[in-house]
Amino acid sequence: MEQVTNSPKLKLAIQKSGRLHEDSIKLLKECGIDISNGVNKLKADASNFPLEVYFLRDDDIPQYVEDAVADIGFVGENVVYEKKKKVDVVEKLGFGKCRLSIAIRKNETYSEASFLSGKRIATSYPVIVEHFLKEKGVSAEIHEISGSVEIAPGIGLADAICDLVSSGSTLFMNGLKEVETILQSQAVLIRNQSLTADKQQLLNRLLFRIQSVKKAKNNKYILLNAPNDKLDQIIGLLPGMKSPTVLPLADKGWSSVHSVLNENDFWNIIEQLKAAGAQGILVVPIEKMIV
Ligand code: ATP
Ligand code: ZN
Repeated sequence: MEQVTNSPKLKLAIQKSGRLHEDSIKLLKECGIDISNGVNKLKADASNFPLEVYFLRDDDIPQYVEDAVADIGFVGENVVYEKKKKVDVVEKLGFGKCRLSIAIRKNETYSEASFLSGKRIATSYPVIVEHFLKEKGVSAEIHEISGSVEIAPGIGLADAICDLVSSGSTLFMNGLKEVETILQSQAVLIRNQSLTADKQQLLNRLLFRIQSVKKAKNNKYILLNAPNDKLDQIIGLLPGMKSPTVLPLADKGWSSVHSVLNENDFWNIIEQLKAAGAQGILVVPIEKMIV
């Protein structure tokens, strides 16, 4: 689609390559936004939304957003808190989930943060670790290293580390164990603090789409058959967006009931529906959910 030259475009920074890259592109796609040119370039245009995507190192994204080189960015909360730039965190994006944890040698015993007192902690997150130590009233030596933090205790560089963990297998392979979680992190949308009204309006459109995609992922559409004499009880178990849809079946004495269920109470409600006499329960994914 042709863009009018002076109409504003929202500039979005995402990770060029790495753990957040694919999920960032996927989220845009789910929002109906296609990135045309390849990711080998610094920048790509969306073909069907006034959006320009910049591909950057994740560590640089908060700075670029503070400086308004990009208007918004997708980046891990861990990076946002470490860099301490003047940006607003607008929305959690539901991917890139990990935790920032303290780990020590497997054979040592940790009961509380005072274990770290006087010890050397290797990390790429000195700001967050310092904040944690301060909160706990513990003084320790922080050694900032930029990669392969998990080998530091093995080579005698540190007594403990603080690093990102998802499964814990990297720690295990290096003879370490996780003893304390400092931060639960996921990708978030950050925003420059002085967006123009035009750009904020574009951001609102994008946010509306992101929220619809997130809601759809957290909900399922459910269809079931209910004997009419149990209908009230079954409907009582279903929340629905307004209220469940109830349609008569060809088979007299039975109705078809349609509703939307949240992932969190899903199994619980399914069990109760079965117990109440529901049959032929179908559960289907929802692609977008506009409420
Ligand atoms: P870049 O070259 O962009 O600086 P990087 O090596 O810093 O890349 P990645 O390892 O790709 O970054 O991680 C990017 C982000 O993905 C992390 O900052 C974090 O928010 C998130 N993440 C999710 N799970 C993990 C994990 N298990 N280990 C590390 N990061 C994770
Ligand atoms: Zn990085």
